[in-house]
Amino acid sequence: MAIEGDGSMTSRWRKNADALAKLVRNHEGPLTQELVRKPGRFGLGQVPSRLAPDAVARSVCGFCSTGCGLKLHLRDGVACNVSPDPDYPVNRGMACPKGWEVLSPLDADDRATQPLVRTDDGSLAPTTWPEAMRHFTEGVRGVQQAHGDAAFAFLGTGQMPTEELAFLGALSKFGLGMVHGDGNTRQCMATAVVSYKESFGFDAPPYSYQDFEDSDVLVLVGSNLCIAHPILWERICRNPHDPRIIVVDPRRTETAEAATQHVPLRPKSDLVLFYGLAKALIERGCVDEAFVAAHTTGFEAFADFVAAFDEDRVLAETGIDASAFARLVDTIAEGERVSFWWTMGVNQSHEGVRVAQSLIDLALLTGNIGRPGTGANSITGQCNAMGSRLFSNTTNLLGGRDFTCETDRADVARLLDIPVERIPSERSLAYDEILEAVREGRIRGLWIVATNSAHSWIDQNDFRELREKLDFLVVQDMYASTETAEMADLVLPAAGWGEKDGTFINSERRVGRIRKVRRAPGEALADFQIFRLVANAAGCDDLFERWKTPEDVFDLMRTLSRGRPCDISGIEGYRMLEESGGMQWPVPESATVDGAMPEQERRLFADGRFFHEDGRARFIFEAPRAVAEPTDEAFPLVLLTGRGSSAQWHTETRTGKSPTLRKLAPAESQLEIHPDDASRAGIATGDRVAVASRRDRLVVRARVTTVVPRGSVFLAMHDARTNRLTHASFDPYSHQPSYKHAAVCIEPATAVD
Ligand code: SF4
Repeated sequence: MAIEGDGSMTSRWRKNADALAKLVRNHEGPLTQELVRKPGRFGLGQVPSRLAPDAVARSVCGFCSTGCGLKLHLRDGVACNVSPDPDYPVNRGMACPKGWEVLSPLDADDRATQPLVRTDDGSLAPTTWPEAMRHFTEGVRGVQQAHGDAAFAFLGTGQMPTEELAFLGALSKFGLGMVHGDGNTRQCMATAVVSYKESFGFDAPPYSYQDFEDSDVLVLVGSNLCIAHPILWERICRNPHDPRIIVVDPRRTETAEAATQHVPLRPKSDLVLFYGLAKALIERGCVDEAFVAAHTTGFEAFADFVAAFDEDRVLAETGIDASAFARLVDTIAEGERVSFWWTMGVNQSHEGVRVAQSLIDLALLTGNIGRPGTGANSITGQCNAMGSRLFSNTTNLLGGRDFTCETDRADVARLLDIPVERIPSERSLAYDEILEAVREGRIRGLWIVATNSAHSWIDQNDFRELREKLDFLVVQDMYASTETAEMADLVLPAAGWGEKDGTFINSERRVGRIRKVRRAPGEALADFQIFRLVANAAGCDDLFERWKTPEDVFDLMRTLSRGRPCDISGIEGYRMLEESGGMQWPVPESATVDGAMPEQERRLFADGRFFHEDGRARFIFEAPRAVAEPTDEAFPLVLLTGRGSSAQWHTETRTGKSPTLRKLAPAESQLEIHPDDASRAGIATGDRVAVASRRDRLVVRARVTTVVPRGSVFLAMHDARTNRLTHASFDPYSHQPSYKHAAVCIEPATAVD
């Protein structure tokens, strides 16, 4: 492999318009005809010219991490309808509203269909792909020449197939010389990643969805499963053991309403509750002493530490009453198969890592791990957050490796056949640190791929101000209409889910196949193709000779994973995934010898062996910390944020395009207010209410309800204005934003509001 010039990024850039044009022309072949010509590539025996019962492609849903299997019904080789796959082991014939409507966003009027470039008059004007690549290379090269290779960074996503995530991370770092890149998974899953790595030795959610049906006690913490992961709630509803369901959440959510116990603790008092619970369980003799002695370290110190969390302290700091605490302790003590589950209420916290680890500590001390119906289980958010965690090459080197480890870098260089000096020897800055570097002028250019930072990032006004500090902003997205795309210097139009091939990894570690069943509109390209164009334009495509198709990259991922905890080397290719209904990692080669197939639902740690060198899990704990922005006289209420309904997804870039989903979601934002707080402020349901933090003020409709506790208000995250109010504080270990705690005040809106 030869690299032109002196090896610096500057000398490697070159324009290659002819090759670009060829790549674009190749892509513009009619994909729907390709479906007809090569039906085997889509898992079909034959594609008839009209819809027929067997004209079906199987794929995995492109919204949430549940990873439901969907049947895509084809007419003339193009998907025209959807139904849930009754044979897929995840959802068994069920789908939530988003799954049923997964095709609608593809038909939206505001799809990006051509590259757009910012012109002298400030508008975004259409351009060609070769011109877009010229702007891209000049923009990136300009920043890197002036400020160094590390002055350009990327922000990715948990919404793209793993093959594309791996390509983006490898291209940016090994090809374009970037050092820093992160993903929007920082906003939802970073806390779980750090917790598992520290406690288990690898980012390894241990469970299978079967555990929802095998538990006799389920503890859901900061998780409104009914609307955030409806199919997983359905799995609980199928549990034949008449389980006790405990919901720990300040709000009386839909899930809390349906639970057998609701523990309505004060916002951000979780750590005190769980340390107090651990103390009570230890005193009750609930320690699985054989398991703790054989498979863990640090229990004695943990037991000493939690001794300070007596019941009086727990009740005073969490606000729950003595009977609720006693019932919580009793239920867990009496459970034979107790599982602990958490989502964003834990992850998006100023001390989320320690809260997650307090749940891991509870599972370890009671021996509730590695057995059916147990576990300390993080439920992921985005459809491919788990793929991002292992292969996005952002803060982890490919395959869950470490950029700072010489051996890991040498391994990756050898396996990918690239010079080792191409691999940065430092870890990437996290999302918040990248933005801080933008503020300080150390990062001057950003490539944002498939995420809408200008809506979703915490303290949104600050993000918008930071944009002014960038010399060059590229946004690659399905829509040119997102808040972030509208700020860009260059917009690259991308294909969406359903318009490209690849794999996702769901919350239970299941690798599932996604399928191309539509042609992207206009000149929009699969992100994979865009990365090939960029590699070609930048003159580093010889590094990526083995990255020609998504399945090529899947093969590389298999190679990179061999011998790692996330080993998928035994998945022999896309066909095996299609035939198996997805496979949970690990799948080493030994698991699929002579056509053998591993069991459909498997959990980790059944042998009590964890991923630390000594094979033991660690008890990790720390004194609780105060929130960054406590309430006071001027801002006396806590703002909680979260999902509004099962029909809404994050910034609604896609779900907002479906008329059906819009009908199922609230017509406008509502601020939930407790009746006592509403009465004190003179506010009734339906009134226009102004809600203000130290950062901004906005007006919404009031909904007076006891769903929220006294002293708190709730606003859904889907409103593009919600993050004008949130406070930019972060967990110190995971750098995950603390979306669920900011100090605000309310008053009736005035005529001028
Ligand atoms: Fe799709 Fe998630 Fe709904 Fe399943 S639960 S259909 S994966 S959005």
